[in-house]
Amino acid sequence: MDCLFCKIINREVPAEIIYEDESIICFLDINPSNPGHALVVPKVHCENLLDASGETLRSLISIVPKISRAIMSGLNYDAFNFSVNNGAAAGQIISHLHFHIVPRREGDGHKLFGGKPYEPGEIEQVAEKIKAAF
Ligand code: 5GP
Ligand code: ZN
Repeated sequence: MDCLFCKIINREVPAEIIYEDESIICFLDINPSNPGHALVVPKVHCENLLDASGETLRSLISIVPKISRAIMSGLNYDAFNFSVNNGAAAGQIISHLHFHIVPRREGDGHKLFGGKPYEPGEIEQVAEKIKAAF
């Protein structure tokens, strides 16, 4: 399988690894939104959140506070964004599940997604369609 992140895990491609344990690796994104932007990656290959096991997801999310605290205190940040791009239409480029930790400080200029209000009556219809799909 030709997977860049599996190659990083297997040390076939270099990366700036900041944390590793038996199930997780975390390394710095080469194209950071802010310096210290890190990717938290399961060692077992899965494409995205939908095909990851519960065990994989638990180990990923459990380690996020520890890594985020180290990034913030080591680099003097105030906050962080935590996200996952799930699927190509959502901006996922690397098809190996990864969580982004983007450290933030006041005035760094990054913008979050813009929002716009629903039309009258629309929110109820949207909620009904979702609830019917469970
Ligand atoms: P995605 O868009 O799939 O959620 O994010 C993939 C991330 O991987 C991007 O932010 C990109 O900068 C990063 N990336 C792509 N290639 C490499 C690489 O070779 N090494 C590292 N460390 N990060 C990479
Ligand atoms: Zn992989």
